[in-house]
Amino acid sequence: MTAEQQGTDDGVVRYQRRGPVAVVTMNRPEYRNAQNSAMTYALDDAFYRAAADPEVKVVVLAGAGEHFSAGHDIGTPERDVDTSFDRRAGLWWDHVGRSGGESRFAREQEVYLGMCRRWRELPKPVIAQVQGACVAGGLMLAWICDLIVAADDAFFADPVVRMGIPGVEYFAHPWVMGPRFAKEFLYLGERVPAERALSLGMVNRVVPRGQLEQEVLSIAGRIAEMPALGLALTKKAVNQAEDQMGLQTGMDSAFGLHHFAHAHNAEVGRDSLAGHDARSMRDAQRTKGSGE
Ligand code: ZN
Repeated sequence: MTAEQQGTDDGVVRYQRRGPVAVVTMNRPEYRNAQNSAMTYALDDAFYRAAADPEVKVVVLAGAGEHFSAGHDIGTPERDVDTSFDRRAGLWWDHVGRSGGESRFAREQEVYLGMCRRWRELPKPVIAQVQGACVAGGLMLAWICDLIVAADDAFFADPVVRMGIPGVEYFAHPWVMGPRFAKEFLYLGERVPAERALSLGMVNRVVPRGQLEQEVLSIAGRIAEMPALGLALTKKAVNQAEDQMGLQTGMDSAFGLHHFAHAHNAEVGRDSLAGHDARSMRDAQRTKGSGE
């Protein structure tokens, strides 16, 4: 590996520098890049590294294999919801050893909502390179990026209303696709193909699958010609405008509803996910004839 391509190739997240571009790649392709906590903390390390490196002007977030990310890990052998990590996204205490809603709230505040909010503030442009599935928790990772470039085989879905939960933890739906379509997206939980996501303004470009990486690196290279401070201030200006449109307060209020739903599920049923796991969610979608 040359100095132009410094990085690591092992672990659940790969980090590679290609000139002024840091490429951060989720690396659990055998599980469609389902995010366990090991992955979210590794992503946090990678984003910190990219933010701190003065040679890096632009960051790309990609997923190894056929899919960007199928969501949070709710069923792989490395699911690690009961594992402690050094907390970074806030001052809430460790969820491990706590029970019920207290444990769930502390964990999701840290590894889902808190991390995503922090990554959105990374003061360099971040481009999501999306192919295949971008589902539920996968949406959160695409949405915290500044640009989303999708392959023509990409699809987007948030099916968690089936669990009785009003959308994923990072509740940006009404801001990234408009309130009218956000309701359809959540009510139906169906796959939205890349071209439709483009027409909704949720993604920037759709390109043939074989040209995805090349197109993303081309855009990243052109952005990297701009001055770093100008890029950082531009990002902050647009993010602040989005915040003024209610993104942060809306997300806080939706997070409360999200946890009310988890707690209701746990109170009346088997668990906080209404008895669902990755397989049952997939089977439910298949029964409807819409894939996934
Ligand atoms: Zn949750």
